Amino acid sequence: MKQTAAVLGGGVIGGGWVARFALMGWNVNVYDPDPEAARKVEAVLTNARHSLPALYEQALPEEGEIQFCKTLAEAVNNVAWVSECVPERLDLKQTVLTEVQANCLDTTVISSSTSGFKPSELNDGATRPEQIIVAHPFNPVYLIPLVELVGDNATCLNAKAILDGLGMFPLLVRKEIDAHIADRFLEAVWREGLWLIKDGIATTQEIDDAIRYGFGLRWAQMGLFETYRVAGGEAGMAHFIGQFGPALEWPWTKLMDVPELTDELVTMIADQSDAQSGHHSIRELERIRDDNLVAMMRGLKTQNWGAGELLNDFDQKLFGNRPEPDFSKMIATVNRTIPADWTDYNGHMNEARYGQVFSDAADAFMQLVGADAEYIKAGFSFFTVDTHIRYIEECHAGDRVSVNTKVLLCEGKKVQLYHEMNHADGRLLCSGEQFMLHVDLNQRKSCPPRADLAEKLVAVAEQQKALG
Ligand code: NAD
Repeated sequence: MKQTAAVLGGGVIGGGWVARFALMGWNVNVYDPDPEAARKVEAVLTNARHSLPALYEQALPEEGEIQFCKTLAEAVNNVAWVSECVPERLDLKQTVLTEVQANCLDTTVISSSTSGFKPSELNDGATRPEQIIVAHPFNPVYLIPLVELVGDNATCLNAKAILDGLGMFPLLVRKEIDAHIADRFLEAVWREGLWLIKDGIATTQEIDDAIRYGFGLRWAQMGLFETYRVAGGEAGMAHFIGQFGPALEWPWTKLMDVPELTDELVTMIADQSDAQSGHHSIRELERIRDDNLVAMMRGLKTQNWGAGELLNDFDQKLFGNRPEPDFSKMIATVNRTIPADWTDYNGHMNEARYGQVFSDAADAFMQLVGADAEYIKAGFSFFTVDTHIRYIEECHAGDRVSVNTKVLLCEGKKVQLYHEMNHADGRLLCSGEQFMLHVDLNQRKSCPPRADLAEKLVAVAEQQKALG
């Protein structure tokens, strides 16, 4: 049975939580007094449906139902998780959280998305203060994995288990401070950016270029300290600090002072921002941002690094959740969404990707019969020596497709598979045959499969004979 979460406030962040939970298979109750809330949440969901499934090589769970509730009490009744996402005002948040606690279960994780308030401020005077924690996400919540968890340890651990199940990266913050870890950091950078504009050193465009062509690329995959460790050369971190540490005392930075946000400065920043990005609507910028984030994280998947490693682990979890296959039928080997980077100038999936889907289908089949990562580690695998693909229908970014696979031939070191790829609407998109040889990875030569695998393959082939 699906679990249910409640999201209070359906703005930028609330909408993102709704999308993350619903697309990961949770039902979601939403409460927001704004009559426009449903429209705004639907817009976020449209973006999320376009981008989140494209991060994975496996299908996500069936989408949950979203219910807009008339009262807060109705929304939080019997739910496992509450995300409070109302505007950043302490008195408002305290009022909302008090009402939540009066109407939810004792076991519900009550989380606030606050960017700056500490749990001790939010739960001041609460009946069960330990139940209220901070779960601070990042925009867009449906794509960015990080959530900072602050507050009671046991509640944070419960929250972590739930967020792990949503494919997120919960970071347990050791001590509560204003603005947690990431916003402290971002504010320092933002303050410096404001000074650079006010002092006429750089425009919004130039500041963004300094980040996206430079250190932003480093931060996205290694962060600050690992990057500096490498920058220290062979002598490492201590050398780096010795060399550049004293520079922190030089007047390079105004860090502690905030420039006064006069009308003049605000107008200057807004004008520069219009010149930089005004030719795109916010909706267009959201799509561009999301597609870029997906492309970057998919790139990190190939490196199995950082956010990419998290996605690969979640793919494995999704693959492991599938039911035991019935080998007397064709085996479901692939179930996924087509990502945008698989399409070409014709606007459809490039033919090479059909081959990739069948290659993934063969990998899944082999994993299911026992030629898994352990088997490969032991020095054996299958190499494809011949493939025939029949392209039948076009396939587009965002299409949900599945592949069913059967064994055509299994004789000693030879295995031949037949695959059919279908669209979620039932249309046959493509079929293919793949001829493979079992190899010894150390000798790089063909050889018969290990006895246990050979036995399993023969048994599967025997069961599938009747399929014709
Ligand atoms: P927002 O203004 O986009 O959305 C707030 C929503 O709350 C609005 O739709 C409003 O109608 C609704 N609301 C107001 N009173 C309410 C009530 N009593 N009950 C239910 N809903 C109510 O704001 P946002 O940017 O989504 O920020 C929400 C929270 O998330 C803030 O605490 C903010 O600090 C935090 N946050 C924001 C970001 C960000 O980038 N915007 C990032 C992380 C965390």
